[in-house]
Amino acid sequence: MAFLGTPGNTVQILKKYNFSFQKKYGQNFLVDTNILEKIVEVSGITKQDCVLEIGPGIGTMTQYLAENAREVVAVEIDRALIPILKDTLSAYDNVDIINEDILKADIRRIAEEKNGGRPFKVVANLPYYITTPIIMGLFESGVALESITVMVQKEVAERMTVGPGTKDYGALSLAVQYYCKPEVMMQVSPSCFLPKPSVGSAVIRLTRYKDAPVRVKEERQMFAIIRASFNQRRKTLVNGLSNAAELQMTKQDVSEALERMGLPPAVRGETLTLAQFAELSDILTEKRQKNRKI
Ligand code: SAM
Repeated sequence: MAFLGTPGNTVQILKKYNFSFQKKYGQNFLVDTNILEKIVEVSGITKQDCVLEIGPGIGTMTQYLAENAREVVAVEIDRALIPILKDTLSAYDNVDIINEDILKADIRRIAEEKNGGRPFKVVANLPYYITTPIIMGLFESGVALESITVMVQKEVAERMTVGPGTKDYGALSLAVQYYCKPEVMMQVSPSCFLPKPSVGSAVIRLTRYKDAPVRVKEERQMFAIIRASFNQRRKTLVNGLSNAAELQMTKQDVSEALERMGLPPAVRGETLTLAQFAELSDILTEKRQKNRKI
């Protein structure tokens, strides 16, 4: 089987299987060998690595991954692509194809079965409509990860890297920057895909930190605070956090915590750094513990 990463070879396979693109699955297949080679290069995969690919499509990138990694686990939701993948990847005995929705898949079990729980690398041209839940799901699964190298919508790559005071700063920026060092590796034009997406793309590499850049007593609470702050972006933190039922915080609790941090009472979440969210969370944890003792 020839390498698929050209428009001609891709069209040939699509015709052979009479495949029609499913817009609802964000199917934009890569048809540029230069981009495919660069993604594999910047992902840093070696013959020691087990790679998780999300959405292999017809197997274009999977072929490159299979050539360069020890093992590849590819999770694809579209049943119509499975016979195609079996054909295009028939030359490789180090690829496992799983027909599942990545948002429902038990990633921890897959990592345990396929890689003995050792950290794996994620490499993918992601379906853009679920980029955020995929990335958040990988973090929240608690699965051991070394890095995530993915093609995403250009604006989403920016959102992952920006800090406070920019309009794109939000819960995704903070989660990514708590767990990983994000680096935009390249911009990719719509003409590198079939069909062409209506948005620009970028490849971003997220390298997992061994130790998070900030310490926080209750990680889950910090993320609940972050979510509540950005759910109601235009509200002050005092109003936003006291309105969030899951947090069970009063206006007074939040006001006192902000005062201790030397922040103005009308401050909004979008101006706080990750370190400040961690500090706020710790002060509120301390308050709750004190209240319980009284
Ligand atoms: N990797 C291929 C390539 O680069 O040419 C295809 C990338 S295409 C942007 C996204 C792929 O993700 C499609 O094959 C699509 O069917 C698959 N997909 C979409 N939603 C998914 C989900 N929830 N779980 C697993 N795969 C999904």
